[in-house]
Amino acid sequence: MEDKYECYSWAKGQTDFDPMTAPTEPQMTHQREYDAIVIGSGLSGSTLTYRLSQGGLKVLVVDRGEFLRQPLSSPKDAIGLHMKSFGANRSFVGGLTKFYGAAMYRFRETDFQAIQHETGESPAWPISYGELEPYYCEAERLFQVHGASDGDPTEPIRSESYPYAPLPHAPLVARMIDRLRDSGTLVSAIPRAINYGNGGKCVLCSTCDAYYCRLDAKMDAEIAALRPALEGGKVDVLTGTECTRILTDDSGLRATGVRVLQEGREWSIFADKIAICAGLGPSARLLIRSSSPKHPRGLGNSAGCVGRYYGGHITGMVFPLLSARKLPAMHTKTFAISTYYHGASDWPYPLGMIQAAGQIPFWEAVSWWQKPAARLIGERSLYCFFMNEAIPAAETGFEYDVLGQVVRVKPPLQNVRTIGKLRHVATEVFKRAGYAVVAVDRRSLWHTVGTVRFGVNPESSVLDASCKVHDLDNLYVVDASVLPSAGAVNTGLTIAALALRTGDAMSGSTCLKSCDSTVLAGQQER
Ligand SMILES: Cc1cc2nc3c(=O)[nH]c(=O)nc-3n(C[C@H](O)[C@H](O)[C@H](O)COP(=O)(O)OP(=O)(O)OC[C@H]3O[C@@H](n4cnc5c(N)ncnc54)[C@H](O)[C@@H]3O)c2cc1C
Ligand code: SF4
Repeated sequence: MEDKYECYSWAKGQTDFDPMTAPTEPQMTHQREYDAIVIGSGLSGSTLTYRLSQGGLKVLVVDRGEFLRQPLSSPKDAIGLHMKSFGANRSFVGGLTKFYGAAMYRFRETDFQAIQHETGESPAWPISYGELEPYYCEAERLFQVHGASDGDPTEPIRSESYPYAPLPHAPLVARMIDRLRDSGTLVSAIPRAINYGNGGKCVLCSTCDAYYCRLDAKMDAEIAALRPALEGGKVDVLTGTECTRILTDDSGLRATGVRVLQEGREWSIFADKIAICAGLGPSARLLIRSSSPKHPRGLGNSAGCVGRYYGGHITGMVFPLLSARKLPAMHTKTFAISTYYHGASDWPYPLGMIQAAGQIPFWEAVSWWQKPAARLIGERSLYCFFMNEAIPAAETGFEYDVLGQVVRVKPPLQNVRTIGKLRHVATEVFKRAGYAVVAVDRRSLWHTVGTVRFGVNPESSVLDASCKVHDLDNLYVVDASVLPSAGAVNTGLTIAALALRTGDAMSGSTCLKSCDSTVLAGQQER
């Protein structure tokens, strides 16, 4: 029975798809031709699948997770379910975006260039902002991004305005923004991927960032990209199935298919093109595990770069106190301060961004003796975080032993004075607006990138500029692991834009709408 497994197909025109109740059709898929296999249905995998299906390719998506469906059973239920309530194994179709905060930012133009930081250089990308700009426009439309350029002096040039107006602020947040502006601080809207307004499903609840939305109103990868891809009838999704290996031919130059494991059964599926979109860590691991006589160190690893150059954002927290009493539940993740992104008059290095977060019970993650104070502050203030770049280096990343287990070497704490300066700036802007502020000296690594980076030099990168593995003709990787650096804005929209661009490279066609070439021509000259 090794050749039989269940595969979700979605008939064309079916608009009310529910994978929990939809009949599943057992298929003899190994006998069937797929143009492409996509491993992982997270932000990158679903977006890539959408693009490939637009290009007319027949695609199989393989994900180790299942569809997540837990609709409200009573109007009194909380809309969001915190990611921790799903335990340690949080693999779902849609990947991490089932819980993400849906802040979908474009990188700034300079993030694509080499930038000198206090203690190192953030590397140049193999492509410019101008090359990705049309794909940013498409990704913003696909994910229904609500935003505005006002108040963000670092917003990169754009050939189209945001597809949707920014989200409204809760009254207490709006009052804070007025006070910030009155005290001379520029404030902008966080671009959010949410189905809001004009018949949209979002009710702007308080349980969004780090929660699963039970109204399916968050534009996560499954809702925004995979569902429309399935509508075309050329995409199958194989859930609860882990890809264990990429198969290659005798020449070692072509990937021929994948080896998959489902409930103890293992078999092979073949296709013309393969894309690994398994996310940071798993993608690198899959390349290493797919070693062969022609690729003894793993696929794409002839220069030893797989698993290396791990970076992301170093984040810290500040809490401007809004009230002496516990605040009501409200949606708070709507504004940001980006004025200091590139530095300050008295600081020559990039500082980063300050963003409001959702009402997250962060105090549940601190030690028992800190909990009462953390909760007292957290329930009376607005949780804001600031982020600076954790610069990737060859020494950072993942190491794999014969069992495939992982040793993780995090980026060392760099830019220490810069982060101190950013914390000071983040505290001062709220103090100037008349708020008492608690700043916490606790740093976390968020929005991690690297381990399968793309670049122009095969000696220092795994992929070429189109996200194809240097050493193979038809194997692609596109997800968070591809980004050579993280800038200091959330990385999601850039991952989605790169996935759309990779889709064009894989299908050899483009579905890009014509964009404003004058804007882009200006861009190339910058
Ligand atoms: C709480 C939280 C909030 C966040 N908020 C934001 C935000 O506001 N904005 C932002 O830009 N980013 C945010 N992020 C980060 C963002 O979600 C990730 O950067 C993004 O999802 C990464 O996309 P990806 O495609 O690389 O991987 P994922 O989305 O993680 O997808 C990887 C997929 O591959 C599957 N997979 C892995 N290995 C295998 C295998 N061997 N076989 C088959 N399937 C496999 C997984 O099941 C998963 O579905 C947040 C993350 C978290 C956790
Ligand atoms: S704010 Fe909107 S998208 Fe977010 S969880 Fe609530 S209803 Fe869903």
